[in-house]
Amino acid sequence: MNRRYRKTIIAGNWKMNKTATETKKFAEELKALLPKAKWCDVVVCVPAVNISAAMKAFKDMRVSIGAENLFYEKSGAYTGEWSADMLKDLGVKYVIIGHSERRQYFGETDFTVNKKVHAALEAGLHPIICVGESLEQRELGITMELIALQVKSALAGVPAEKLRKCVIAYEPVWAIGTGKTATSEQAAEVCTFIRTTVRHLYGARIARSITIQYGGSMKASNAAELLAQPDIDGGLIGGAALKADEFVDIINAANQD
Ligand code: PEP
Repeated sequence: MNRRYRKTIIAGNWKMNKTATETKKFAEELKALLPKAKWCDVVVCVPAVNISAAMKAFKDMRVSIGAENLFYEKSGAYTGEWSADMLKDLGVKYVIIGHSERRQYFGETDFTVNKKVHAALEAGLHPIICVGESLEQRELGITMELIALQVKSALAGVPAEKLRKCVIAYEPVWAIGTGKTATSEQAAEVCTFIRTTVRHLYGARIARSITIQYGGSMKASNAAELLAQPDIDGGLIGGAALKADEFVDIINAANQD
């Protein structure tokens, strides 16, 4: 973390978990546990059908609501989809784009990720852009090439003034939901490489100000060490974000000096 230059953001990704009723219960539990002063921003990304319930449930708390996906068109005949403007209108602040589960199960590509990033920014949302290599790609030694490609394609055509709204999440696919966490050295190496890639594209000032998260089995026991790395400015958290006490432990780790 480097709070002098950029925000620390702890974001939960609920994936396809929790009903509206469970959302309300989680918010009540979180409210009781959340520290009064926090040096990090807290985001909870919920299934789209629960956004209104989440807005209501978290309304008195300093917690932003995020979505887990959007479609890049503004409106039209796209049954089952929702647009960036629809999210914005509900009060959503962040939206996860290009999560590896979207890439794996729903045909998301670097090309659609880029279109979604543009749609999110145009609507005034903060995209949390996910990048990350598979185990095979890591073993082939092409992690950095792949990450550079994903970052450059996701940001293609994004003007410098809009980059401030973007968050990049490094999520090694082999560490998501597997209980295997990247070592802090592995995570730091890639997060630093992402910042260098952004610096080559946008210059040092912007690269210094962008929030880069780590995601992949982050939990209370490893959060402090991961967040102590200078280029890791927060976490995108799946499993451990589903229980209020575990999520708060990670928030507390981000609150340390
Ligand atoms: C995620 O869904 O982005 C994630 C990192 O999941 P988990 O923390 O469960 O590995």
